[in-house]
Amino acid sequence: MDIPGTKLLRNKDFTNQIIKNIKKICQNLNRVKIMHVCGTHEHTISKYGLRSLLPKNIEILSGPGCPVCVCPAADIDKAVELGKRKDTIITTFGDMIRVPATNISLAELKARGADVRIVYGPHDAIKIAQDNPNKEVVFFAIGFETTVPLIGYEILNTPPSNFSVICAHKLIPAALELLISQSKLNIDGFISPGHVATIIGLQPFCLFSDAYRIPNVIAGFEPNDVLLAILMILRQKIEKKYETLNEYTRVVKPEGNKKAQEIINQVFKQVSSPWRGIGRIMDGGLAIKSEFAQYDADQKFDIQLPKSQDIPPGCSCHLVMVGKLYPYECKLFRKDCTPLNPIGPCMVSMEGTCQIYYKYYNP
Ligand code: SF4
Repeated sequence: MDIPGTKLLRNKDFTNQIIKNIKKICQNLNRVKIMHVCGTHEHTISKYGLRSLLPKNIEILSGPGCPVCVCPAADIDKAVELGKRKDTIITTFGDMIRVPATNISLAELKARGADVRIVYGPHDAIKIAQDNPNKEVVFFAIGFETTVPLIGYEILNTPPSNFSVICAHKLIPAALELLISQSKLNIDGFISPGHVATIIGLQPFCLFSDAYRIPNVIAGFEPNDVLLAILMILRQKIEKKYETLNEYTRVVKPEGNKKAQEIINQVFKQVSSPWRGIGRIMDGGLAIKSEFAQYDADQKFDIQLPKSQDIPPGCSCHLVMVGKLYPYECKLFRKDCTPLNPIGPCMVSMEGTCQIYYKYYNP
């Protein structure tokens, strides 16, 4: 079966053909655990009920694929602390402002009168800095490899001196390695995020297939993309081949986006970085290089923070994020914790596993 052209992406006959092939292979397999690490993949899987189409011996786990969810409380506390200053405007992506931090979220800080603004990206924040030369404008930058080049590009273009960035970017491949080596989840295969691979290419993912002998498929975001990725993993398992394959060939080039990689390497360096609920991951994040220190809020401001708290009492986000618990197994799910009143980060974002389950699963 070939990788589909765009016409087949939502074609029901093609879906049935993939499912038939999956079922056939599964007759010869015991339990198979496949993990994805992308909120958009979970969204596709849940929205289209893909789990219900699969044989009972396939389990699809949701990994730490929501950038808002893995952002540590300490970084939000930092933004809150800076936002308390009368001369400072905090800017960030929409989902980020409602995420619970140690004491208050950015939304609560805004309700108390601070100037916190939602923007579509760093370019908007720079415009705000240009329009407010007497204020400091801080862009709270979160996200995986997909959002990093945008910020690097803006920094290379010499933004105004009253603009700076809280750099809370995380890197996906390092997290996958940690999941394999520490979680004892016995993962049989990874569905890796196509948009991340669009930037970094296939090579950083090859570690999993080469060193750990775990099949890895870079997948797109349509239902048939995800199903095909599952089939490609199962085939590797049955044939005892362990490769990194590209299902998302219509977008992902093996070498990734060289220009974007160049920008990332110019502006950022890989650092050991804390992931909310998971802990510090070696090479799991990015920091701004010292040449661009004037745009790095960490280096520009003296920020004193109290000890932070990542996981509120009773919340199980740290288990949900590594696939050890389904959201409906958390005792607060749908009761105390809802999208209108989120207790943990996984219920805030549209890419958070708890919010997706809240929307699509009604046990
Ligand atoms: S349902 Fe709420 S409290 Fe429970 S793990 Fe999810 S976000 Fe945390």
